[in-house]
Amino acid sequence: MAADPLALAAELLRCPSVTPAEGGALSVLERVLKGAGFTVHRATFAEPGTAPIENLYARIGSTAPHLAFAGHTDVVPPGDEATWHHPPFAAAIEGGMLYGRGAVDMKGALACAVAASLDHLAARGGKPKGSISFLITGDEEGIAVNGTVKLMQWAKERGETFDHCLLGEPSNAAELGDTIKVGRRGSLNGTLIVAGKQGHVAYPERAENPVRGLVTLMSALMAEPLDQGSASFGPSNLEFTSIDIGNATVNLIPGESRARFNIRFNDCHSQASLRMLIETRARVAAGERVRWQIEWQPSNADSFVTSPGPFLDLVVGAIAEVTGRTPTLSTTGGTSDARFIKNYCPVLEFGLVGQTMHQVDERTAVADLTALTAVYRRILDRYFA
Ligand SMILES: [Zn+2]
Repeated sequence: MAADPLALAAELLRCPSVTPAEGGALSVLERVLKGAGFTVHRATFAEPGTAPIENLYARIGSTAPHLAFAGHTDVVPPGDEATWHHPPFAAAIEGGMLYGRGAVDMKGALACAVAASLDHLAARGGKPKGSISFLITGDEEGIAVNGTVKLMQWAKERGETFDHCLLGEPSNAAELGDTIKVGRRGSLNGTLIVAGKQGHVAYPERAENPVRGLVTLMSALMAEPLDQGSASFGPSNLEFTSIDIGNATVNLIPGESRARFNIRFNDCHSQASLRMLIETRARVAAGERVRWQIEWQPSNADSFVTSPGPFLDLVVGAIAEVTGRTPTLSTTGGTSDARFIKNYCPVLEFGLVGQTMHQVDERTAVADLTALTAVYRRILDRYFA
């Protein structure tokens, strides 16, 4: 009997695994994968100031080629449950749709990957012609320090090597098969701080208003594009997200002003080159007049892109055969755990349709679960042909 992705997705959706809670979701995967002959490890990672997080690594087979499915069982909070048409952890099915927090991001795709693997193995007497593994974390939607980044390191220390990885994030925009993510932009946060001299607004000559300098520097940093984009990416972008002066007094010139910003950057930059570019532009705009500095937050989100090649061709071909669509190769959207995997092996992202991710009434078409399972199955059959 074929493995049932809908039943498995529903079982996962009933686990309330809001980051950092495991919620029973990894135990479901452990039971199913062990039942199919996988060796399953549960690894808990922690560091000071963060919640310890459970992760799972499962593998069947001991030889190359080694294809890994990666993903996360944690979900974002449901918000006000009363606004959902179906309770967020009930896995209700109505009108051909499966409802629940995590339906598309990304328990549904995990269920499809497991079902496809079980079917593939069953068709080959229970053994792969190589190795299949699952790299599953419970720390993707949170600060992501005790998840995939540590799981990859843990696997490496055990001597695990991966040839290719498929991450089941909801890559598709409107219909299953419309988009593969082949890379991601990087993300960098900073705070621009301009110093002034506090004083009475009626005597500005005795003070130095840092708001003027802040506006000058903000304007300069917003004026010019950071680049023109590259072969795989659109232009990098800087957005100011907050201006913080916090001055409640109407007749006081403040002593300091701050503005926070985020940059989503492409493969024209490293973090270091980007910091240098921003600071150079600020320095030019400031001249001798404005006393300024930028505090950069540490970032573990560099940009990357997976090069074209046989693996990409194989995945595109499988998607086209099952869905009739030729997927767009995209690098848009936020960061994902692929940024931690790309240092170990080429990684592509293909999952369900992302339209309702993180929303009230998150849901997937049941038909999409069937189709995604067929896509993964075809990828496995070709990969291990
Ligand atoms: Zn996700």
